[in-house]
Amino acid sequence: MSKNMCGFLGIASQETDVAEDLYLSLWSLLHRGKESSGIVTYDGASYHPEKGMGTVEVVFGGDTLSRLKGRIGIGHVRYSTTGESSLKNAQPIEGSFKSTPFWIAHNGNLTNTETLRKECEERGYFFKTSTDTEVIAALIYFSGAPNFEDALKRALRKIEGTYALTILSKDTLYAVQDETGNRPLSMGQGRGLTVFASESAAFDVLGIKYVRDIKVGEIIAVSLESPLLPSEIPFRNRKDAPERPCIFEYVYFLRPDSKWYERRAQVVREHMGRILWKECPIEADVIVPVPDSSNFMGAGLSKESGIPLEMALFRSHYVGRTFIEPVQARRTKEMRIKLNIIPELVQGKKVVVGDDSIVRGTSIKRAISLVREGGAKEVHVRISSPQYISPCYYGIDTYRVKNELIAKNHAGNIEEIRKEIGADSLYYLSLEGMKRAVTDARDDEHRALQFCDACFTGNYHIPIPQEIITS
Ligand code: SF4
Repeated sequence: MSKNMCGFLGIASQETDVAEDLYLSLWSLLHRGKESSGIVTYDGASYHPEKGMGTVEVVFGGDTLSRLKGRIGIGHVRYSTTGESSLKNAQPIEGSFKSTPFWIAHNGNLTNTETLRKECEERGYFFKTSTDTEVIAALIYFSGAPNFEDALKRALRKIEGTYALTILSKDTLYAVQDETGNRPLSMGQGRGLTVFASESAAFDVLGIKYVRDIKVGEIIAVSLESPLLPSEIPFRNRKDAPERPCIFEYVYFLRPDSKWYERRAQVVREHMGRILWKECPIEADVIVPVPDSSNFMGAGLSKESGIPLEMALFRSHYVGRTFIEPVQARRTKEMRIKLNIIPELVQGKKVVVGDDSIVRGTSIKRAISLVREGGAKEVHVRISSPQYISPCYYGIDTYRVKNELIAKNHAGNIEEIRKEIGADSLYYLSLEGMKRAVTDARDDEHRALQFCDACFTGNYHIPIPQEIITS
């Protein structure tokens, strides 16, 4: 079964075709997936889909965009795991309701996919993909509801897990946030456009304003006739499903210029660095962050300590983020060409290397060995999140590498981990410190917000079926 960490968006325009805007804003979501890309538009009479393997640059070359007519459409970039990275699974996924097609794009993981898939197959549904996204499409197909909105609600009532969705049903565009608010999803408006996107950075590309996040359990829609239809929150309190946005988004995944829950990721990361330093200060000559996701936590370490920040590790931007590469062999090779050291900045110095997280340990080991190659006298590692001890089943796919989690494999023994990665000292930000960094980033009622922190605590707010845990 395919599991994804993806990015998507939907755009409705009162005036112009949207293919170009979809393409441009998908660029701002590329860090969320680069294995496949897709866009589908609707011109009032027909859909115009285009999907392919690779980044938006590869898939939408030549005159492709000019063929995608229509003032409404959705787009998706996808990351998957080994063996699942195939064109058939590229999104958006096509579904059908009362013989009329619709298209759906998804970020998240359903936890009852296998049961629902089997039920749909027994009723005669022929799945074209191995994605959980198509299960939602199948449930809409079988809903028996009188109209698409009711079909969508009936389908959503059956699924468990995490999901943020955008759906194109002819001239209506929907955005849906699950009842735990786990995956990021925001709305922007301007220039006659209404946009729903996984990250607010997509709005900046289009020159429009971030309006708000899609609320927990909310279904919101826009049509070609109406800039914004009344929104509904049909599922809140449907069951015991507490609001739990993913805290790891702030640690690692969100682009630093993106906002979620009114908190800009850059501000949160700087806070994380500051709190981290307060928790474990050390005498040192220089702070060196592992680029790029740790740049702002590194700035926080530097501002709090007064120790200069040096960008001594150089990252090539022609190689993708290693964490989202599905094949370990390729990931390791890419590490070798991705990072390099500027030795003059660390030679003979006592260096603090700052990183946002350690999942398998591949990146931090490489960073430490480069800093040592550069002639550093000592290398002390500071991590702006707690030990990553438990896989994510909700949308950031680490469960397939659950046997490679370095903190889990060393049963949380920091001394053993320090030795394995080759650092002179190692400290992880406390759970409380990480949460405080996010809540402190906005001093209002949102301070009370609780987060999903299952990968750091093993406390899963949505139960994970045993067959998934043991698979
Ligand atoms: S388990 Fe971790 S990565 Fe997954 S949703 Fe929760 S906080 Fe995010």
